[in-house]
Amino acid sequence: MPSLFDGASARIEAALEHIEISEDVAQGLAQPDAALKVAVPLRHDDGRLTVFSGYRVRYDTTLGPAKGGIRFHPDVNADEVSTLSFWMAMKCAVMGLPFGGGKGGVAVDPKQLSRAELERLSRTYIDQVADAIGPDTDIPAPDVNTNPRVMGWMADQYRIITRAHAPGVITGKPIEMGGSAGRTTATGDGAYHTLATMMERWERDIDGTTVAIQGFGNAGQRFAKLCADAGYTVVAVSDSSGGVYNDNGLDIDSLAETKANHGSVTEAEGEQLSNADLVTLDVDVLAPAALESVITADNADQVAAGVIVEIANGPIASDADATLIDNNVAVLPDILANAGGVTVSYFEWVQNRQAWYWEADTVAERLNTRMVEATQAVADRADQHDVDYRTAAYIMALEKIDAATAATGTSAFFSNA
Ligand code: GLU
Repeated sequence: MPSLFDGASARIEAALEHIEISEDVAQGLAQPDAALKVAVPLRHDDGRLTVFSGYRVRYDTTLGPAKGGIRFHPDVNADEVSTLSFWMAMKCAVMGLPFGGGKGGVAVDPKQLSRAELERLSRTYIDQVADAIGPDTDIPAPDVNTNPRVMGWMADQYRIITRAHAPGVITGKPIEMGGSAGRTTATGDGAYHTLATMMERWERDIDGTTVAIQGFGNAGQRFAKLCADAGYTVVAVSDSSGGVYNDNGLDIDSLAETKANHGSVTEAEGEQLSNADLVTLDVDVLAPAALESVITADNADQVAAGVIVEIANGPIASDADATLIDNNVAVLPDILANAGGVTVSYFEWVQNRQAWYWEADTVAERLNTRMVEATQAVADRADQHDVDYRTAAYIMALEKIDAATAATGTSAFFSNA
């Protein structure tokens, strides 16, 4: 399997077979603008000290300040954070948001920490990256294993450091601290709008359409609920411990309760299945909503689903692309399908800057409009160039960054060519 970053470059190259962009842009996108690695010391409740590694990467800021989440996960590393920040730059461009791409993380397993330890870790991380972030430079948000409470601690720490209220420095905050209505459900909502838009475009019936979802965190749970409520048959869901299956459809509310009370959907009664088996299940729609690279060249041929909705970032490794395209699997790519989160983050940033807050209905309606428009635009592009949806989304993103770069002059302009 190629490294995540090489995989990201392969997707740019695939898009560049269909469009021309300035060499300046291609060079500019070949590496991050800035990559910061910091030590994050944590004093445990029992007095021990552990020093974790933390990262914040600003990939590209052609279209606006860097934007992207912070994840807490033992596997966080420099290559992953860089790649995730690159994907954010592409995602914001596809969605027409005035942001570039950024990402951060700490290589830590937050499940091993007490609440007080988690708070200290979150605040120390901000101490260490405070000079690199800001409402006009780089704006963090939640990602894997981080949530509104963590964002609240982080925003509060930034306020303590700067001695000023600047709530727009971090999005995904608790509502009481300037968070936006609808931010928590936004990623699942957005993925659902993308699928719904395409189902209509394909003139496909929801009735009888089966769905399997890998990952039952914030986004996966919400997506499962919306699918079940709309009449899809959600036959399988899983979390990091494994999954459950029912060919008549699962009760999503009761699984959410089991997960909340017992930590995993595998504690629910019913047929169990592994994460590996879920990915190759004979369903119509597969939604990987957990981590990167769950579909690779090794298992791509066994994917039976006709549609994949990438709710996670990077769940399909680039070495699986050719097989999925050959097998006519329609992939609704991450930089579109999971963009609901950053879109409502954008709404939150706008509200923070205006100190004027929107009703939940307004947020929901504006998110829907943005997701439907972006999905139709990507699908139109795919038709126009006769390419898969991912390549179409990259084409759109690269053209936007290219146009903004050209506005200040590229080598062609300066050589009077
Ligand atoms: N972590 C989310 C993502 O990968 C949200 C980023 C944001 O809201 O800035 O898109």
